[in-house]
Amino acid sequence: MHHIQGVNTMDQTVTDSRSVNLVTEVPGPKSRAIVERHEAALPLCMSLHLPIMVDHTSGALLTDVDGNTFIDWAGGVGCLNVGHVNERVRDAIIEQTKRFTHTDYTVLPYETYVRLAERLNALAPMSGPVKTAFFNTGAEAVENSIKIAKAATGRAGVICFDGAFHGRSLMAMSLTSKTHPYKAGFGPFAAEVYRAPYPNAVEFGGDAEAAGAAALERLRGMFNTHVAAETVAAIIIEPVQGEGGFLVPPASFLAGLREIADEHGMVLIFDEVQSGMGRTGTLWATEQFGVEPDLLLSAKSIAMGMPLSAVMGKAAIMDRVPDSGIGGTYPGNPVAIEAAHAVLDEMEGGLLARSVELGELLKRHFDALADEDPGITDSRGLGPMRALELRNTITCMPDSDRVGRVIHEASQRGLILLRAGVNGNVIRVLVPLVITDAQVEESVGILREALAATR
Ligand code: PMP
Repeated sequence: MHHIQGVNTMDQTVTDSRSVNLVTEVPGPKSRAIVERHEAALPLCMSLHLPIMVDHTSGALLTDVDGNTFIDWAGGVGCLNVGHVNERVRDAIIEQTKRFTHTDYTVLPYETYVRLAERLNALAPMSGPVKTAFFNTGAEAVENSIKIAKAATGRAGVICFDGAFHGRSLMAMSLTSKTHPYKAGFGPFAAEVYRAPYPNAVEFGGDAEAAGAAALERLRGMFNTHVAAETVAAIIIEPVQGEGGFLVPPASFLAGLREIADEHGMVLIFDEVQSGMGRTGTLWATEQFGVEPDLLLSAKSIAMGMPLSAVMGKAAIMDRVPDSGIGGTYPGNPVAIEAAHAVLDEMEGGLLARSVELGELLKRHFDALADEDPGITDSRGLGPMRALELRNTITCMPDSDRVGRVIHEASQRGLILLRAGVNGNVIRVLVPLVITDAQVEESVGILREALAATR
């Protein structure tokens, strides 16, 4: 049975404001039976983060086939900033499916595609004329941004960063910075990819500026020891690192990249696939650093999980690609385009303000958790893109094992958590921004219990 918030119990004296409602063990028997079929029918590599089968969702809540309702801090790995089954987006999807679901835009175009490009061009944090190209996934946005940069510069080199995650296709995987499970056995990788350090304040005793300055110095040194600057087409970076553990660089570091790119004629690409669409309190995290990229990538939350990604870029760069040099059958699918319009309507209709509030609320709670628990060595993030880093209190080594146990304990109490970090020792929050304050309190209570159970 779907649990309704604030339902009075039989005697009408107690109001149950809890959202979580577990009616079986987790996973329950119906989920377990389907997971058995999953194991027989699907490749073994498709291991499941949490083996519960989803039945329906709403806002920040998710109910499985056994009738258990969870608070979902995974948010479809950051695709659901507007909430599960956001009604405005859902209705836009339904209406479009009644008209047409596909034509292939470059064969038979439609106005909503042009209008979405116009809206994104106006919202892109870049000066001068901007143009947008659509794709389906984050990885495709990455692949194509590199093609655009190569076409614009006539160069082959790409600079990327330690801890980066840009996707799983060949170029995206080559740019990604984690061997297992993303790269091992899948080489050879794309050529001319060079990796620079990403500033990590933790390694500099919390001094973000010092971390940024050191990383810039190393990058400049690479033009002497690794790759000639004049052969580099692009620098690609996540302005807030996602899979790498929600690291936030100092603005001075991104400004330094801007300077280097300008000095040597490189294209500066900001991958906001995870940090964009309101995740950090502004539409783009970029806005909070005051640094302009040349290309900006969006995916995930742009269309509430419908496959859509975008490369927004300075027109002078975007227009350098030869005719039909980028594209595909599906990019800018009309249903996904309508979903994205409705997502932008939500962002413009107050969701960004909620994002800021939620960021402050989560920061207060996470800082308190870090004060209480010596195993939490960092509470960080930008807006509601927040994370806790866990280390062993004796060895100070990354405590991936404990993060696994915290995730398990939380799931048993009705809270779905995700991890991050190249060492897997970070708990990250990608909860729908529509989560209520009461649900935040409830979730943090569960997280506190899960932390206590694993101490
Ligand atoms: N870039 C970033 C920053 C990401 O976080 C991700 C996905 N986690 C990707 C690219 C790849 O996106 P997709 O899975 O849609 O290919």
